[in-house]
Amino acid sequence: MYDVAVVGAGINGCSAAYEFVQEGKNVIVFDKEGIASGGSGAAGAFISPKFSKAGELKEIIEEAFVYSMEYYETNFKHFFTKAQLLHIAKDEAEGESLRVFKAKTTLKLKKPNEELLESLTQSAKEQEYVSLDAGVVNAKEICQKMIAGAKFVSLDVQELVWEDGYWLINESYAARELILATGAYKTIIKEPYIGLRGVWGHRIDVKSKLKNPYSIHQFVSIAPSSDGIIAIGATHNVHYHPQTAKEPYDVKAGREELLEKAARTVKLDAVEVVADYTGLRSGSHDYMPLLGSLVLSKETLECCEKSIRVKKPDFGEFLYYPHLYMINGSGGYGFVLAPYLAKMLKEQILRGKEISPRLSPARFFARWVKKS
Ligand SMILES: Cc1cc2nc3c(=O)[nH]c(=O)nc-3n(C[C@H](O)[C@H](O)[C@H](O)COP(=O)(O)OP(=O)(O)OC[C@H]3O[C@@H](n4cnc5c(N)ncnc54)[C@H](O)[C@@H]3O)c2cc1C
Repeated sequence: MYDVAVVGAGINGCSAAYEFVQEGKNVIVFDKEGIASGGSGAAGAFISPKFSKAGELKEIIEEAFVYSMEYYETNFKHFFTKAQLLHIAKDEAEGESLRVFKAKTTLKLKKPNEELLESLTQSAKEQEYVSLDAGVVNAKEICQKMIAGAKFVSLDVQELVWEDGYWLINESYAARELILATGAYKTIIKEPYIGLRGVWGHRIDVKSKLKNPYSIHQFVSIAPSSDGIIAIGATHNVHYHPQTAKEPYDVKAGREELLEKAARTVKLDAVEVVADYTGLRSGSHDYMPLLGSLVLSKETLECCEKSIRVKKPDFGEFLYYPHLYMINGSGGYGFVLAPYLAKMLKEQILRGKEISPRLSPARFFARWVKKS
């Protein structure tokens, strides 16, 4: 019997597992494909803020950015590289957002140096940009390290049964608390209000003569070079989904697109692709993450449908799955958000601290009831 079971060994599941291991809990982690085999293994894993004008998503990502920079530096410094980030506007509209961002931000901005500007194309140089100290994590290795104190089992979790005060998983493992961190892949709990969108991404490692000590983001994300290798990645393909597609993903076309977009920003030369990584990132319909308990929709409708429909719903009235939680929907900021969300989740499970209703999956239940 385990204290905590986590399904999904991406950055969300591994960050959650790490929190509980640090508290001395007996933790088991399951993944059907292996550690960091989903979106997390494909990610460039840049730790950066969101460069928009305003909004709650920008705010939560900024808080998480400050938290995660220190968290990775303190706990996983061998898997974390601090690197100056240069974010260049794609067009005039984004340029305007960056101007507002720069005018309002409390983050410390930096000037990019001449050497960096030299490696940019002329059109990139002409755009508005913002630069600050940020970081990159080594995605796969950090996930492995995070769950080193937990038991890892390679298992496709299909069946979850709540029985006598614990969760029985595939009839083989038992745990008191269950955390679902399954990313954009098929949900195990079938609840009609949970709708996560998967966006397909592709990252390539290329050999290049370009010596780039910076993270550069414009049409794609370009990582600092390490031993002559530069990682280039993007998640932008909303049409391809590995679980529903009729044709396999066209890796060659994906490579060409990434290289063409990177070449709009930096002067890349003598490029040879040495590795490809692909995966889905999952986003919610309002772009905010999903964190916390899941509503039992059938039972809650039976007890309180009227009050959900007529007034501002009180999430405290809903009925929830016992000891079951979700951490998901981090969009393109999974590595920024995961440590911050995992800490909140732990505080709720162990110490009863409330999670903001803006992050609670219950918000989607309330919307679903009103719509249907
Ligand atoms: C190309 C690319 C670039 C990105 N760049 C960045 C970036 O620079 N910075 C950033 O912060 N974020 C970035 N992201 C987004 C980030 O990768 C995601 O937000 C993050 O990986 C989500 O992590 P997760 O743990 O929720 O999901 P995942 O990493 O997808 O993990 C879910 C895991 O659950 C497992 N699973 C699913 N169902 C089951 C089941 N039934 N039983 C057992 N296991 C199951 C899957 O095998 C998978 O390993 C990028 C994403 C991509 C694809």
